[in-house]
Amino acid sequence: MHIIPCGFPNISNSCYMNSALQCLLSINPLYTYIKNKQFKKYVSNKRTSVNYALYKVLKNKHKYTKIIFYLQHLKFIIGENNKIFSNNNQQDSQEFLNVLLCDIMNELKYKPIIKNIFNNIQTTIVKCDECNTTVEKYDDFNILSLAIPENVHSTTLNECINMYLCLTKLDGNNMYECEVCNKKTSATLKYDIHKISNVLIIHLKRFNQNLSKNNTLCTFPINNFVVCDKQFELTGVIYHRGSLFGGHYTASCKGMFNNNWYNYDDNVACQIDTNNIVNSQAYVLVYQCL
Ligand SMILES: [Zn+2]
Repeated sequence: MHIIPCGFPNISNSCYMNSALQCLLSINPLYTYIKNKQFKKYVSNKRTSVNYALYKVLKNKHKYTKIIFYLQHLKFIIGENNKIFSNNNQQDSQEFLNVLLCDIMNELKYKPIIKNIFNNIQTTIVKCDECNTTVEKYDDFNILSLAIPENVHSTTLNECINMYLCLTKLDGNNMYECEVCNKKTSATLKYDIHKISNVLIIHLKRFNQNLSKNNTLCTFPINNFVVCDKQFELTGVIYHRGSLFGGHYTASCKGMFNNNWYNYDDNVACQIDTNNIVNSQAYVLVYQCL
């Protein structure tokens, strides 16, 4: 079967949404779930359902006038729940993907099928230096945000993961509020990944608090990426070029029914060589369990 890749038209500054949608709809189990309307019994109102809107987008992908209408409708629904996306400004593609995932899961009330796709759990362990009390916390997450080292020529995804797993000292301006000592103390903080489901979405933190962008090349594996003893393969990348004040998002995704890779620049879609997947504009990586 030859599948023609299909882009999404830009509906005023919506490249952030188009790129996130391409990556999301390249997630095999989610694609099947949406396409086969498996969400149907959990949706009472089609007009306000984010899953139904996604279904309509998927179904009308190849129909130019209809797709504009359904993209606008999807964006409207997301804007209703998350005001930041209700205008026509440029937005962050990673934030959009995160709220879209939250809306999908909330609507389906975290049904097991969706939990198997997206439910990841992070552990946070804080140990007070004064009383040695350890506090452990478990949090669900959709997207793993990783810092990229600054002022280096290049880094690797595994290095960024190791940095995230490193012990961090909480002191100075960043003290810990210890409930046992009942005061601010110095402490050590340790993150860990408690559980990963079948999809791992990684956000490379390129935008800093001082509003600059870190363009360090972070290389990442396309096949055989192992985290928590699970083996993943890359199926989508969101790229950002430009600065925090103006830029453009594109996406590259693996074909659902073949091993080809396609680049999506709004409505323009074309096949690409896999050598072009890894570059310094990569911003969000979507991995699926083999
Ligand atoms: Zn303490």
